Amino acid sequence: MDLEHLGEKVRNCNNCHLRKTCRGVVFGEGNPLSPIMFIGEAPGQNEDEQGRPFVGKAGQLLDKILSAAGLPRESIYITNIVKCRPPGNRTPTLAEMQICLPWLRRQFAFIRPHFIILLGATATQGILGQDYTIGKCHGQWFTRKGVQFMPTYHPAAILRNANLKKLIWEDFEKISSAVKLV
Ligand code: SF4
Repeated sequence: MDLEHLGEKVRNCNNCHLRKTCRGVVFGEGNPLSPIMFIGEAPGQNEDEQGRPFVGKAGQLLDKILSAAGLPRESIYITNIVKCRPPGNRTPTLAEMQICLPWLRRQFAFIRPHFIILLGATATQGILGQDYTIGKCHGQWFTRKGVQFMPTYHPAAILRNANLKKLIWEDFEKISSAVKLV
């Protein structure tokens, strides 16, 4: 099986109740050979409609940040911890994340990135654990099984609070420097 076949499999997934209320599964996209993978929390309305991750306002802001950091969108791989839109764009529950997580692990096994950037509190806590709060651990590298994980703010948080712009930019400077060394 390759990443494309895995995508087909995930698009047919009915392992949890979220599939009943969304339009379709949003698998993820990007360069499968990228050394860096970005993980958000779940598709929103625009992503659900288009079947692609990070295409709404927050996604457009992320594209600008990526480009300014020298990591154009087409050079990275991007997905979410939960692949189906939760009703009303609510935050996915821990149980929903745990049910969907095996798909992310399999995506990860194909891409084998050196770096994983966790966008926002939900992805950070879903992957690193509940003790990892975004305010405390954003911008820091955490090594797990030889892979470097960095939590940073979700671009949607910046749209709500412009004061976070400086912090996310500092995080992306660190990300950009690390990726250039690979
Ligand atoms: S959220 Fe994940 S586990 Fe649930 S139906 Fe969608 S792909 Fe399957």
